[in-house]
Amino acid sequence: MDYTEGKGWHDPRIVPYAPLEMDPASMVFHYGQAIFEGLKAYKAKNGHILLFRPEKNMARVNSSNDRLVIPRIDEDFGVQAIKELVNVDSDWIPDAPGTSLYIRPFIIATDPFLGVRPSDTYKFIIILSPVGAYYKEGINPVKIYVESKYVRAVKGGLGFAKTVANYASSLKAQVEAKHSGYTQVLWLDGVEKKYIEEVGTMNVFFKIDGEVITPSLEGSILPGITRMSTIELLKKSGIKVTERRISIQELYDAHAAGKLDEAFGTGTAAVISPIGEFSWGEKVITVSNGKIGPVAQKVYDTITGIQNGELEDTFGWTQIVK
Ligand code: PMP
Repeated sequence: MDYTEGKGWHDPRIVPYAPLEMDPASMVFHYGQAIFEGLKAYKAKNGHILLFRPEKNMARVNSSNDRLVIPRIDEDFGVQAIKELVNVDSDWIPDAPGTSLYIRPFIIATDPFLGVRPSDTYKFIIILSPVGAYYKEGINPVKIYVESKYVRAVKGGLGFAKTVANYASSLKAQVEAKHSGYTQVLWLDGVEKKYIEEVGTMNVFFKIDGEVITPSLEGSILPGITRMSTIELLKKSGIKVTERRISIQELYDAHAAGKLDEAFGTGTAAVISPIGEFSWGEKVITVSNGKIGPVAQKVYDTITGIQNGELEDTFGWTQIVK
């Protein structure tokens, strides 16, 4: 679908996957005016094709659009477009357990103009890609490198938007962490490098002294849909969840006091990713003996069960494609 100033969004169409022909001066190549989303379609046991909270992804598109000065899209139309496209390609969802069809909607600025201002033209595109099961041999905890040199986002910046620049700015830290043997980077706040923000492409949760804590949304972290679902699910199960600022020192103190029971990340790709080890400077701590804990396991089983149609969706989270 295209956008032209004065005409609005127009010409929605489904076309075979093919390279895009674009003007080399297209503004997205130079000024990064682009946003994207990520969600999955699942094949349920009863044969239905399900989407998990796609309306939340479309709401996040518009929240990202507002920050990047990209014209808003009609959210219902966006969900409908995803359903129509998935319907065309649902045979691509493999039959093996845990597999799905990854859906990547994105918007790019296409105006051929050299100079900094918002574009007058855009493209909204959705592409699909089959993905295998995230966990093939049980759920393995990840080792996390606490980043103290680089920052990902600051309040007032782009952190809450799903925009390309956030990922570009994270690459250097990711490469250095991987080089040191770590799977992912834990970002700290961009001002004091003290408060925990999020991990790579996941939000984070900690179980400390019987309470589950996750960093509050202060504008610099992505409001994850799995995060939102995890909070709702835990509250419904009677588990205390608090959204607040939590410092890396508090985490280490809780560990020293024997009160850090679990740490896990949440995101569309893995749903839950238990964290088995943190490395902050020279200080390394291990959590849950490097295994998945009961809270993370419960969240994983419930969300994946709903996504695969094995559990009744009492939350109304899924939408049927067909
Ligand atoms: N933070 C970042 C930076 C991400 O890219 C993602 C993945 N979209 C998340 C958190 C988790 O968000 P969600 O649960 O919506 O996938």
